[in-house]
Amino acid sequence: MRRILIANRGEIARRIIRTARLMGIETVAVYSDADANAPHVREATLAVHIGPAPATESYLRADKIIEAALKTGSDAIHPGYGFLSENAAFADACLGAGLIFIGPGADAIRAMGLKDGAKRLMRQAGVPIVPGYQGDDQSLDRLQRSANAIGYPILIKAVAGGGGKGMRRVDDADSFADALLAAKREAARAFGNDSVLIEKYLTQPRHVEVQVFADTHGNVVHLFERDCSLQRRHQKVVEEAPAPGLPESIRKAMGEAAVKAAKAINYVGAGTVEFILDVSEGIEKAPFYFMEMNTRLQVEHPVTEFITGYDLVEWQIRVARGEALPAKQKDIRIHGHAVEVRLYAEDAEGGFLPSTGRLERLHLPANQAGVRVDSGVEEGQEITVHYDPMIAKLIAHGTDRTVAIDRLVNALDATIAVGPKTNRGFLARLIGHPAFRAEEIDTGFIERHMGELAPIINVPDRLLALAALAAATPRAAPDMSSPWTALRSWRLNLPYRQSVDLFLPDNTKRTVTLTRTAEGMISVGGLDEPLLASPAWRDDYRFEVDFSGSLARATVLAHEHSLEVRVGGLTFHFGLRDNAEGDKGALPRDGKLMAPMPGKVLGIFVKPGQSVEAGDRLLVLEAMKMEHRLTAPAAGTVKAVHIGENDQVPEGRLLIELDVEQASA
Ligand code: ADP
Repeated sequence: MRRILIANRGEIARRIIRTARLMGIETVAVYSDADANAPHVREATLAVHIGPAPATESYLRADKIIEAALKTGSDAIHPGYGFLSENAAFADACLGAGLIFIGPGADAIRAMGLKDGAKRLMRQAGVPIVPGYQGDDQSLDRLQRSANAIGYPILIKAVAGGGGKGMRRVDDADSFADALLAAKREAARAFGNDSVLIEKYLTQPRHVEVQVFADTHGNVVHLFERDCSLQRRHQKVVEEAPAPGLPESIRKAMGEAAVKAAKAINYVGAGTVEFILDVSEGIEKAPFYFMEMNTRLQVEHPVTEFITGYDLVEWQIRVARGEALPAKQKDIRIHGHAVEVRLYAEDAEGGFLPSTGRLERLHLPANQAGVRVDSGVEEGQEITVHYDPMIAKLIAHGTDRTVAIDRLVNALDATIAVGPKTNRGFLARLIGHPAFRAEEIDTGFIERHMGELAPIINVPDRLLALAALAAATPRAAPDMSSPWTALRSWRLNLPYRQSVDLFLPDNTKRTVTLTRTAEGMISVGGLDEPLLASPAWRDDYRFEVDFSGSLARATVLAHEHSLEVRVGGLTFHFGLRDNAEGDKGALPRDGKLMAPMPGKVLGIFVKPGQSVEAGDRLLVLEAMKMEHRLTAPAAGTVKAVHIGENDQVPEGRLLIELDVEQASA
């Protein structure tokens, strides 16, 4: 194999390029209009433009990608994950064009493509599956009877589902019919297939998946498990390997079941067999069930690479070249522990809405011991609505779980991203949470602890003072070389007396006053007790305040109208103006509901003249592959609806106007 075309973008394209280069193999990048300046394009040996920004017109265009491979004399295609990676027709088309598809055969992809078929197949192969109904009869009567027989709560799942879409939990027989209709509607829209399956809803499960690998010589091995139980809306947020507290007997049984699953479909290459582990009665004898198999390399593969010491992309390429697997089962061992988090451009403090825009600053901790960073974007690059908003994966390894978590905490602390909002602070709170450290994990973890994972609103006085001082003077020019210059400009710019409004995450306002004293210090008022302070910027982000001999050091990031202050592993968020007024996407006090981001209108639930209560669903907008509900900020009457279903709307577009009822005093 001399040259591989990578039918993907972002971090996974760069990841594949890295290994190919080590193996002396050339790479071909493909890119859309939006990615002309993306790092994967520059890092590949060659690059081919394949179309406009929307993935349907570029990264999902099998024909253009195969044409690019042929034109560049590539002999193989690596699909990465997402996009065409689990598309059986694409795998076939590659073969048809005389190209090697770096992945399993199309039949194996098809066998695992639909959840119902995959489960039936696994049941036959003797792999345990969650009790449920996976039949073809999709009538309400049949499905309702199955649900009743299983016993509530049950879960309705779209057979073609993915990414947590098309799933509905149902708690009693009475709400089944409505939930079924909703699930089928969502599935039809998202996957063009409204078939569903019904299964027992496990109330306290862990998501444990096993990495498998198979070659064309009949060898199949597993590379142990990953625990991906920390999820939000059924999507993974933190992944680790091995699974904390998993008894050796279960580990062994799961590994064997995964190998059995791979063998049942004559699997070749890298795959992941996902299991759900029922820990409601404790983990010692927890039963596990097959959930689905992902027939590709996964986002979270680095934690497995860390604990096994193998390069899974290298294994993929070797298998595709027809070589035998590089290791035998008995030689594959677990070394230490690894944890991964996904850094996303999303407003974790504001309801997890996706956030777009230019990454003004991006610093990722590339050189810390035991830390690996796989990133897809660079400083200056735009996070667009077209693709997954992942900025980077941060992965840490250590001799044990505590060391790995500590390293990841430090890595997150050293991560600087200015521009779009990110989930960095949320991730730091999550992996720093005592219950996570104590291995008290299951898929309900995030929901259960949401209160403690929310941004801090009880801010100590010294921190309010520090934030106000940092906000009072805009930072010196970013390339300012000497901190002393910055310090001088600070003193020069600060008027005799100034007040700073700081808005806490719950939008309460604290007004802090800063008054210069004769000694050149600053007296900070508006707090429980006044403080005397002497502040200084040490560089672009490091800010220090000497409070009468006691020094407070913080990392301070300012962007537009917000301030992020990090002290001792904690992150505090401050708004510098009232979020409820004027900010895009904020509560429309004038009754005008604007699009908080560009997106597609999936559904409109109100008509002009209709009266609504505060919190009523008005419309659903799809942006960055996620659905966002926009709800009525207050009771009122719908005055006008300015958009139609399926409309593509730009950010700030007027969507719906309400006549808001005046609150009676
Ligand atoms: P998708 O393909 O949409 O990601 P999965 O079948 O992989 O859907 O399930 C995603 C997540 O949903 C799982 O990791 C788990 O947290 C939850 N889940 C799936 N099946 C069940 C179940 N039977 N009971 C409880 N939770 C479940």
